[in-house]
Amino acid sequence: MNYLIIGAGLSGMVLAERIASQRNEKVLLVDRRDHIGGNCYDEKNEANILIHKYGPHLFHTDNKAVVDYLSAFTEWEVYNHKVLAYIDGREVPIPFNFNTLYKVFPPELAQKLEQKLLAAYPYNSKVPILELKQSADEDLQFLADYIYEKIFVNYTAKQWGMKPEEIDGAVTARVPVFVGRDDRYFNDTYQMLPKQGYTAMFRNMLDHPNIKLMLNTDFKEICELKDGKFYLFGQPFDGQVIYTGQIDELFAYQFGELPYRSVRMEFETLSRRWYQDAATVNYPNQYAFTRITEFKHIHPIDRDRTTILKEYPEPYVIGKNTPYYPVFTDENQRKYAQYKDLAAQIPNLTLVGRLAEYRYFDMDDAIENALHVYQNKFEG
Ligand code: UDP
Repeated sequence: MNYLIIGAGLSGMVLAERIASQRNEKVLLVDRRDHIGGNCYDEKNEANILIHKYGPHLFHTDNKAVVDYLSAFTEWEVYNHKVLAYIDGREVPIPFNFNTLYKVFPPELAQKLEQKLLAAYPYNSKVPILELKQSADEDLQFLADYIYEKIFVNYTAKQWGMKPEEIDGAVTARVPVFVGRDDRYFNDTYQMLPKQGYTAMFRNMLDHPNIKLMLNTDFKEICELKDGKFYLFGQPFDGQVIYTGQIDELFAYQFGELPYRSVRMEFETLSRRWYQDAATVNYPNQYAFTRITEFKHIHPIDRDRTTILKEYPEPYVIGKNTPYYPVFTDENQRKYAQYKDLAAQIPNLTLVGRLAEYRYFDMDDAIENALHVYQNKFEG
């Protein structure tokens, strides 16, 4: 056994699959949870509704190579995610686009703002809110302030405990102002979901005799890192260690903890056919939760009950909840760089994925990244 992979999330599963099927080598894949798939795990609940246990995961990509890779393990069904934001007593489409303009402003004003946007930016382009706020035009300045106040500032305070300016600009740029009429949350070429769900696709990926899976196993129960060397089941291990967990945990927090945001997920199954008009409704300015997702919109099923999820962001506390989002600040990036330098001194260690690389990956980015790591480091 030459490969130990720690963490059976997207990154760990892709590498296990590649090494097992392409290199024909044996892999031990461990995860402390009782299931594969990391935070992309989905399962049917008691009402037979497919839910995403760790919050809504919507696959979308422009990357054909990623689609081709996954298509070996699943069939697909088309799914275009739509999100509404509840502001001033109305539900309006986001990302904020021309349809939203006409929903929130009187027609004359909406038309004027549409023209101003089109004069400043190409049709169908995306403008991050923090960029729009820099606009010299006073009408666009007014619009930027409106969107900032109504959609971003309070949601971001709940989600991150910070102002939009205090986190990396890439975070709020994920939901840009859209200079067009597309109401979909994403504009990518491929927007679809595995026909039988993510977990079924992941099972197919790991269904290989070279992959040995150990669930309910914290890596520290079987593996030790001492003086830059790995020990597996008490014996020196010279094979490759692919680590996809939190990097600070691997190094016993010696430079301090890397902060994450966590989310408390509150599911409810209701005795009614539908709860809301879109898969997700964001509540920027009310309640302690950020958004409500109704899973029947994502995976259609004819039921007279429906399951919803409210997401309550909270700080990550070791041993208490789940690390979801790395908190991007300069200070945290510096701390991460210290851990990364330490990792670079261990020749048989590879860090991959959201937790180990302290990155806010989308699903397609995580898969692409893992495929690149395989090609650059393990192929051939
Ligand atoms: N955001 C916001 N209001 C919204 C939606 C998003 O302020 O209604 C900001 C917020 O800072 C959030 C970021 O945009 O963290 C990215 O949102 P996205 O929906 O991509 O987050 P994810 O689905 O990854 O939690």
